[in-house]
Amino acid sequence: MLFNLKFIAENDLLKFEKNSALVKFFIDTNKLERQLINFFDSLNLKISDFQKQSFLDKKNDELVYHNSSGEPSIIFIKKLKIDKEFNCDFFRNFFAGLIKSLSNKNLNSINIVTPIYEPFRNYFDSIAYLIQTIIEGIFLGNYTFDKYKSDKSNSKNLSVKIHYTDKIIVKKIIDETEKIMSSVYFARDLVNEPPITLTPIELAKRAKEELKKHGITVRIFDKNELKKRKMNAILAVGNGSNNPPCMIVCNYKPNKPKKKIALVGKGVTYDSGGLSIKPSSGMSDMKADMSGGAVVLAAIKLAAMLKLPIELIAIVPAVENMPGGNSYKPGDVIVTSSGKSIEVKDTDAEGRIILADALYYASLQKPDQIIDFATLTGSCVVALGEIAAGLFTSNDDLAEKLYKAGMKTFERVWRLPFWNDYKLMIKSEIADVANLGPRWGGAITAAKFLEHFVDEKIPWAHIDIAGPAIKHKSNNYTERYDTGFGVRLIIEYLKNI
Ligand SMILES: [Zn+2]
Repeated sequence: MLFNLKFIAENDLLKFEKNSALVKFFIDTNKLERQLINFFDSLNLKISDFQKQSFLDKKNDELVYHNSSGEPSIIFIKKLKIDKEFNCDFFRNFFAGLIKSLSNKNLNSINIVTPIYEPFRNYFDSIAYLIQTIIEGIFLGNYTFDKYKSDKSNSKNLSVKIHYTDKIIVKKIIDETEKIMSSVYFARDLVNEPPITLTPIELAKRAKEELKKHGITVRIFDKNELKKRKMNAILAVGNGSNNPPCMIVCNYKPNKPKKKIALVGKGVTYDSGGLSIKPSSGMSDMKADMSGGAVVLAAIKLAAMLKLPIELIAIVPAVENMPGGNSYKPGDVIVTSSGKSIEVKDTDAEGRIILADALYYASLQKPDQIIDFATLTGSCVVALGEIAAGLFTSNDDLAEKLYKAGMKTFERVWRLPFWNDYKLMIKSEIADVANLGPRWGGAITAAKFLEHFVDEKIPWAHIDIAGPAIKHKSNNYTERYDTGFGVRLIIEYLKNI
């Protein structure tokens, strides 16, 4: 991490220690000049006319004020226009960028003045959530994955003081957000871990080690167990690798749960494409092909930490998809644990194959809902870009609630069509279903494939995270490392179920 962060709830009285920073927001109105002068007066500091005029200029929205005469040593002032360009991710993105820019500064503490809620009413459902996005942004920007660097320097300590009229509220938000972000970090650490260390069995071990601390039971179905259960889909995909496949099954059971929900996550710890091998340019991101698995493991950890009143089953089929003497082949027919057969047309469409066994297993547990996360198709990224995940479901209520949770957390999902016409495109002459359809509509035919293996009486949603799970340049907290997209989304959904 860039810093060892310590969040502190403070009241609105500003006091500064040595080497401190201050962050203050102003809303761009005709009172701006007056407010700016008052603010500097209140700190007993003087802003020069030059600095003032530059900040008031339409083209500028930032002022970095270096204070030579005492504390705070540095003040970051940001001018906000609440217009159609503004969105509810602003503070997350801003603070993720700010914290990175501080890594070469010798600061002990940063003081953040919480802006007043009123102008932001349409963007945040409460002041508490606005403050939460500030803290999330700092955590997200603070994330690094440098365990394999030999010259990494020790993280410096940094106190982050959140100033607000009500300290008790802020303390509660800090507590909860620290839990949320420890789970996001857990997901990101798994996703960013290279495949040489994170094999399917290692993923299972790390899941067990972390989750048992939170009272979650974790079972690992090894190769023999998979054979016993006729999970031939997982076995087939895993067969080309020297690292054996497994399935991870976790259960969090609170007292008197309101609902029981199965979360299923694709856990391909490395996807070379198998015999239908990928071009080399696309291979280096393929360590993240277990992102769906990481998301559901992190989600169950977080649900337990937050003591949500919902029973969760997290299911992760984990394989490495490699070419080899024992690889499954285009032309193969696999009879899955459900009894339904799959014609393999392309071994790079492996995620849906392993999910066939996992979704069938999930259905047998008779949950109230099933939600799966998978970096399933490049087609979904072609359709939506990297900033949104594809959502597939025939259940409008589930779609609506997941959409809402996505808009709030900014882990956004966009619903794509799910008509049965697409089902016809993956018919097979020799098996019940083919694992690949024609080129067009590939994200939807993949989702339609999965539908074959879900009990139709159970409401189910499939979320294709192939775009937003991988690092991308659209904001300050997704650009350097794979993202763990989905943890905040699903928890928000589960909290409001
Ligand atoms: Zn693949």
